[in-house]
Amino acid sequence: MTAAVIDGKAFAQGLRGRVAEAAARFEAETGRTPGLAVVLVGEDPASSVYVRSKGKACLEAGMESLEHRLPETTSQADLIALVEALNADPKVDGILVQLPLPKQIDDKAVIAAIDPAKDVDGFHVVNAGRLAVGEDALVPCTPLGCLMLLKDQLGDLSGKNAVVIGRSNIVGKPMAQLLLGESCTVTIAHSRTQDLPDVVRRADIVVAAVGRPEMVKANWIKPGAVVIDVGINRVEAGEGKTRLVGDVAYDEAAEIASAITPVPGGVGPMTIAVLLRNTVVAARARLGLAAEAGL
Ligand code: NAD
Repeated sequence: MTAAVIDGKAFAQGLRGRVAEAAARFEAETGRTPGLAVVLVGEDPASSVYVRSKGKACLEAGMESLEHRLPETTSQADLIALVEALNADPKVDGILVQLPLPKQIDDKAVIAAIDPAKDVDGFHVVNAGRLAVGEDALVPCTPLGCLMLLKDQLGDLSGKNAVVIGRSNIVGKPMAQLLLGESCTVTIAHSRTQDLPDVVRRADIVVAAVGRPEMVKANWIKPGAVVIDVGINRVEAGEGKTRLVGDVAYDEAAEIASAITPVPGGVGPMTIAVLLRNTVVAARARLGLAAEAGL
């Protein structure tokens, strides 16, 4: 079998188009465009790139991007004061504080300060709790993007055996909750899991979110399974060059799976598209407007 390649880039482009239409409708209804505030503390180069591309994507979708860049030495109190000002600002529908934060700042305290109605990253415990009990929630962007790709590929997920490798609050745990919400039988594997290959072999759906290059081998994959690779790992490619690989040994796994996401071009592009989607969803919900279909 040669797997279908799940084209996350194309799916994300489609979603961004639908978000742009939804943003235009929001503007027609309310007289303003949805606004996303992105806060970056310090000069981390990777974070800087993410923040810039989030801002650009916002503008391309016809939404307002409000960027706040603070120095590396910013105190926790000053950052929380900014978050509180953004909570109170009626033009701001979504607030994203780029992680990681400098060591003098406690991530948890900052996330707790974000108004859950504006928490477009879905990291606030109120949103995590709502997701867990099956209520409407703002859901972390990467796992929600993975779910969209899975539903597009498979339709109904009910009754499927799903294995999520990784239990982070950002990817693994919310991914497992989303799959449970779709009536999958969900196993969460992690660094202490015994006989991981055997656990993965039972899965109709494998989501790998570990951060270890090509850890998941082809002979772990059940023939016909759908594989979603969240991992982004930079490895040596010889002659002083590097390349990106996922957590799955892609070439061999693609011979066994029925469908698989590539790295890059699979899950990666979904994250920003879902962030824009969450911002429109948050903007409508805050104003008591009906939810948009098709997002
Ligand atoms: P994390 O480090 O917070 O969590 C990794 C998880 O993997 C942990 O729960 C750990 O228990 C598990 N793990 C570690 N070693 C393992 C092993 N040997 N066997 C089984 N499980 C093991 O990472 P994260 O933030 O969840 O990110 C995971 C990966 O996804 C990283 O490569 C990250 O770069 C990538 N990522 C991609 C996107 C995207 O937009 N595509 C977004 C977020 C994260």
